[in-house]
Amino acid sequence: PAALTLRNVSKSFGEAHIIRGVDLELQRGERHAFIGPNGAGKSTLFHLISGNFKPSAGEILLGEVPIGGLSPERINRMGLARSFQITNIFPRLSVFENLRLGVMQRFGMQYTLWRPISQYRKVTALAEQLLEQVRLVRHRDTLGGELSYSEQRSLEIGMTLASDPKVLLLDEPMAGMSREETDYTAELLRELSVGRSLMIVEHDMDVVFSLCDRISVLVYGQVVATGTPEEIRNNAQVQEAYLGKEVAA
Ligand code: ADP
Ligand code: MG
Ligand code: MG
Repeated sequence: PAALTLRNVSKSFGEAHIIRGVDLELQRGERHAFIGPNGAGKSTLFHLISGNFKPSAGEILLGEVPIGGLSPERINRMGLARSFQITNIFPRLSVFENLRLGVMQRFGMQYTLWRPISQYRKVTALAEQLLEQVRLVRHRDTLGGELSYSEQRSLEIGMTLASDPKVLLLDEPMAGMSREETDYTAELLRELSVGRSLMIVEHDMDVVFSLCDRISVLVYGQVVATGTPEEIRNNAQVQEAYLGKEVAA
């Protein structure tokens, strides 16, 4: 089965039909971008998948298991993580302590200095791995709050990865970053998404086209096109609806 399946998923707030019959299959190992104009419903769609919103209709499956309407915590434990919403870094704790906290959350441990030595070693070893994965080894003892903006984002991603998710959702991970930081983060996401499925909402078309295997275009709560970067780039309807300027340039 696909890593994540959406079947005819809809969400209304009163009379406002924000997500209208979205179908999607996210394959294992696939990097999938959602693009579309502001207000199209991209964040709402992510909220539905992560359990922050309940779908009004339709089915959401993680692997073969229905998750529509479950709590975000349960969905997270089942292998789906959503960065920048669930996680927040602790500015007065070091990078390493932040990562240790992420790992402890994964195992449902309380934060206390005292632990049986075997647990302590396990937590520490996993935090060390994450530290390397998000390339923050040299900032091991730096306080979270003293990192640069993109380093803080790397740390947030590291904390999200502590749960070793099969599916990772990132809503505008490059927002507010310089060109250099954006390229750095894109490269990091490429490395970190190996062996998992990645879904991102991103406005930077360079990133979307180079990082992702597949792109879906959301307009007024409906997927108007889905395909490879090449197909999306050449889709006349997409150019008209949204991409015109970005792609032509
Ligand atoms: P995007 O992420 O694509 O910019 P959003 O998903 O944030 O779009 O928003 C899509 C639409 O849904 C917007 O018009 C927004 O006002 C509306 N919306 C989002 N959340 C709610 C809510 N809790 N109640 C009512 N309307 C909402
Ligand atoms: Mg928006
Ligand atoms: Mg949004």
